[in-house]
Amino acid sequence: MAKIVILGAGISGHTAAQYLRRWLSKKHEVVVVTPNTYYQWVPSNIWVGVGRMTPEQIRFKLGPKYQKWGIGYKQAKAVSIHPEGNKELEKGFVTIEYTGQDKEGQSEKVDYDFLINATGPKLNFAGTDGLGPGKNTVSVCTYTHAAEAWEKLRENFK
Ligand SMILES: Cc1cc2nc3c(=O)[nH]c(=O)nc-3n(C[C@H](O)[C@H](O)[C@H](O)COP(=O)(O)OP(=O)(O)OC[C@H]3O[C@@H](n4cnc5c(N)ncnc54)[C@H](O)[C@@H]3O)c2cc1C
Repeated sequence: MAKIVILGAGISGHTAAQYLRRWLSKKHEVVVVTPNTYYQWVPSNIWVGVGRMTPEQIRFKLGPKYQKWGIGYKQAKAVSIHPEGNKELEKGFVTIEYTGQDKEGQSEKVDYDFLINATGPKLNFAGTDGLGPGKNTVSVCTYTHAAEAWEKLRENFK
């Protein structure tokens, strides 16, 4: 029996989780660690940004889906990876910090046999002065950014 831990439930992490759950027998465990409540289909943010779709149409809650499919779900962010374990844990493990599931701020060590790190890009608006939501530009990188972009566009139309 193997335990596969996937960091991130974006396009790559969520796809990996679905395929692994489908291909592996139930004696193997698939666990997703991700700070977000929702899966979002990022390319459709473009439609949210121009008011053709709503955030609700491009996202769904991960918890109920993963429960139905038999995928473990920890709403948390990974803060460190320990591939060789430590004195207490011989196996590789990840330290996570919960962001939801009524455990906000709590830490946990999650051991694994195989780890998929699918945490995606880090948005770095701060790297350019004046760039980013709430400043001089709008973004469609997340559905909340895209919803704000649509608000700003409507103001311009007015
Ligand atoms: C508007 C828009 C349109 C696009 N259109 C296309 C397209 O048409 N075709 C195309 O190929 N690509 C498109 N892209 C690019 C595509 O969306 C990205 O390449 C893709 O989302 C990257 O997937 P990912 O899983 O690597 O990262 P993400 O989708 O960013 O997912 C990363 C996940 O990791 C989680 N995470 C972050 N930090 C941690 C942590 N410490 N611990 C645990 N989890 C963590 C995040 O919360 C997130 O769930 C588009 C992008 C945008 C913004």
